[in-house]
Amino acid sequence: MCMKREKIRINGIVQGVGFRPHVYRLAKELTLCGYVSNNSEGVVIEIEGEKNNLESFHSQLKTAPPPLAQITDYRIDDILVCHDVDFKIQKSSHITKPTTFISPDIATCDDCLEELFDANDRRYKYPFINCTNCGPRYTIIKGTPYDRTLTSMSEFPLCSNCQTEYDDPSNRRFHAQPNACSVCGPQLSLHDGTSEMSTESPIEDVISLLQDGKIIAIKGIGGFHLAVDSNNSKAIEKLRDRKGRAEKPFAMMSRDIQTIQKYCYVSKQESELLISNKRPIVLMEKKGNCTLQVNIAPKNKMLGFMLAYSPLHHLLLQNNFDTLVMTSANLSEEPIAIDNHEAIERLSSVADYFLLHNRNILQRCDDSIVRVVSDYTQIIRRSRGFVPSPHFINKNIRHCVLAVGGELKNSIAFSRENNVFMSQYIGDLDNPKAYNFFEDSISHFSKILEAKPTAIAYDLHPEYLSTKWAKKQTLPTIAIQHHHAHMVSVMAENNYYDKTIGIILDGTGFGTDGTIWGGEILVGDALNVERFCSLKQVALPGGTVAIKEPWRMALSCLYSAYGNKIPENIPFMRSISKEKTDLVCQMIEKKINSPLTSSCGRLFDAVSALLNIKHAITYDAQAAIELENIANSTTRFDVQPIKNVGSVIDTDKLIRKIVEMIQENKPTAQIALYFHYQLAEYFVAAVLSAREKFAIDTVALSGGVYQNKLFFEYISLRLQNEKFNLLTHKELPTNDGGLALGQIMIADAQLSAQKKGV
Ligand code: ZN
Ligand code: ZN
Ligand code: FE
Repeated sequence: MCMKREKIRINGIVQGVGFRPHVYRLAKELTLCGYVSNNSEGVVIEIEGEKNNLESFHSQLKTAPPPLAQITDYRIDDILVCHDVDFKIQKSSHITKPTTFISPDIATCDDCLEELFDANDRRYKYPFINCTNCGPRYTIIKGTPYDRTLTSMSEFPLCSNCQTEYDDPSNRRFHAQPNACSVCGPQLSLHDGTSEMSTESPIEDVISLLQDGKIIAIKGIGGFHLAVDSNNSKAIEKLRDRKGRAEKPFAMMSRDIQTIQKYCYVSKQESELLISNKRPIVLMEKKGNCTLQVNIAPKNKMLGFMLAYSPLHHLLLQNNFDTLVMTSANLSEEPIAIDNHEAIERLSSVADYFLLHNRNILQRCDDSIVRVVSDYTQIIRRSRGFVPSPHFINKNIRHCVLAVGGELKNSIAFSRENNVFMSQYIGDLDNPKAYNFFEDSISHFSKILEAKPTAIAYDLHPEYLSTKWAKKQTLPTIAIQHHHAHMVSVMAENNYYDKTIGIILDGTGFGTDGTIWGGEILVGDALNVERFCSLKQVALPGGTVAIKEPWRMALSCLYSAYGNKIPENIPFMRSISKEKTDLVCQMIEKKINSPLTSSCGRLFDAVSALLNIKHAITYDAQAAIELENIANSTTRFDVQPIKNVGSVIDTDKLIRKIVEMIQENKPTAQIALYFHYQLAEYFVAAVLSAREKFAIDTVALSGGVYQNKLFFEYISLRLQNEKFNLLTHKELPTNDGGLALGQIMIADAQLSAQKKGV
C-alpha cells in the first residue's frame, strides 16, 4: 500500500460556497486524512492516503465541486507523510488581504425543493428555505467577511434545530448563512397599500387575488415584481396602463419547462439556461400557435420566460398557475423597488396588494436577461445570478481602477488584482432614482469587494452623469472613448490583447472629434487605437428627440442621399405632413439643433421608419426590433458584394437603393432583410481592407446593434468565411452594460504606460 501526502492550493470562488464541508465529506468517503482550511489565497488542503484514493479525490473535486464554486487554479505538491488519523475542517487562518469572492444569488436547489413540498419535513411550505447550495447571497450582504452577522439575516437568531444544522460539517446547511425555518426565520405578510391585512395564509390569498385579475407587488430576492395572471388580458392592460409601459414586452415566470414549451420553441441550450441555477429570463421565439395574451409582448416574435427561482415563487405557481406575468416593480424607467415602505409608497398607484416579507434586500438586483444567438449565450442584462462573479483576466492588471460606465444601461466595475468585478444593471442615469442607485452601488460594491481604487475611468462624453460624477472626485481620472471601451471590453472578455480590428456598432458614443459616433471600425489595442472607417455622418435633427422619433432619422438619411430632391412618391413621404418634413429639412440645412452622427443604431431606426414600420418608439430600440422581426419573415434577399469602401461607408447609396426597392413595390420584409445583409457587407469590405493594411486577422464585435440577431449572425458568418478570428461577447452585454470592463483595461494600460514613460 503506497501512502502519500499532498498539499493542494485552490483558487477561485471557493469561500462561502460550502467548499470545506464538501472537501470534508469527499475525504471521509475516500478514507483520506488531513485537513482543509481557508486562507488569504483561497482553500488549502493537506491530504494523506492511498495513491488511488488521492487520484479519485482530485478528479471528483475538480469535475464536481460544490455547485456554487468556481475553481480557477488547482495546484498539488507532494509533502512528507504525517500519519494523521482523521480529516478535519480547520478554522480559517488569519486573512490579511481581500480575496473574498461573494456568491451571486442562486435558485432554490432540488434538495430544498423536495423538502419544501414534503409534508413531513420541518420546512414544509416554508417560503424561505435554503441551504449552502442555494438561496440569497449578494442581495443580503452588507459587509465582509461573508458571515451571518453581516447579512440581513442577522436579525433572525437561529433556533436550536437550525443552529445544529449550521454547526454540523456533514450537514447540507453547514455554515449556510441565510439558514432559517418557520420558527426562527423571515415571515410573509400581506398588505393592501394602506395597512397590513390579517391572514393565516398570505400565499393562498395572493393566489386567489391573482385569479381575480388583481395586480400584486411581490417581494422577491433582488427586488419586487409586479405579478398578474398571464391569461387575463384585462389585468395585463391595467398593468400597462398603471405602469406607463405601452408596448415594451413583459417577462413571464413559469413553473416548468413543459409549460414554456407550449408557447415557445425551446432549444436544448435554451432549456439549459432556463434551468441553470442563475435562472435568467431567456428570450425565445414564440410558437405560431401561442395562445398567450398578445399584449404581453405586442409585435414581438420573442417571449421572455424564467422559471421559478425562490421558494416563494414555487409555492405561488405550483398547481395554481402555469405562467404569471412577472415584471420588475417600478414606474417606467426607475430602478426596481426593494424596501417594503418604499414599495408601498412608490407602487400604490400600480399594485392592488403587496406580498411582503421581513428579510431586507440590501442590494437591488434585477432579473438577468439572456438569449441564445448562433449557439452561445448572449447576455442582454447581467444582474441576479451573475453578479458579483468576477471576470478572471489572464494578464496583470496593475491598478485598482473604478470604471463608472456610460449613461444608459449603466453598470460600474472595480478591478482587484487580476479580477474585474462588474456591478449589476443599474439603469439609465438620467433617471434621478437610477442615479442614486449608481452612487449607492459604487460605495456598496467597493465596500464588499474591499476595493481601494487609485484611479477612475469614465466615458469621454462630457454630459454623461457618470462623467460628471467622476470629475467631482479627488482621485485621478482617465477619459475613455466610448467605442474604444466597447472594443477592449470584448477583447478582455476573451482574454485577447494583441492589436485587433473592431467593428463597433451602437446608438450613441462621444467621438474624439466632438461628434457622435456609432458605426465605427477601429484598429488598435488597449493603449492605442485609430478610427479606420465609419458610417457616413448624417444629422440628428432635434438631437435626442430624433432617437424617440425615428421618422426624423429617415428624413435625415433621405436628405443626405437626395438633398432637396427627396422623392415624394414613397409611402413614407406621404405619411408625414409637408409642414413637418419642411421643418426638419430646414433644421438639417441650417444646422439647427442637428448634431452630426455616424450612429449605426440610428441608421436602423431610419430604415424602420422609411419602410413605415415604426415612426416613433415607446421603448429603447423598438424601431430596430420591429424592423428585424419583419426582415425575419422572409428568406429572399439579393445583396451585392462591396469593393473598396475607403474611410467612409457611403450609406447614401444604400438609402437610394432602398428607396428604389420601395418604388418597385418590393415586399417590405425583403427590403428589410436586404438592408441587414447589405449593411453587413459594407462592414465586411471595410474590415477586409483593414486586414490588408494592418495584417491583423482578429475582429472584435461589440455595441448594442449586435443585439440584432439577424444582423449579428450574418456578419459573424461572413467574417468566419473570410477566415477572421472573431471576438464576441459571451459573458457581458454587448450593449453599454459591458463598457466598464473596457474602461478598466484601457485605464490600466494608460497608467502603466505613463509609469514606464512610454
Ligand atoms: Zn438548497
Ligand atoms: Zn430555525
Ligand atoms: Fe455604446
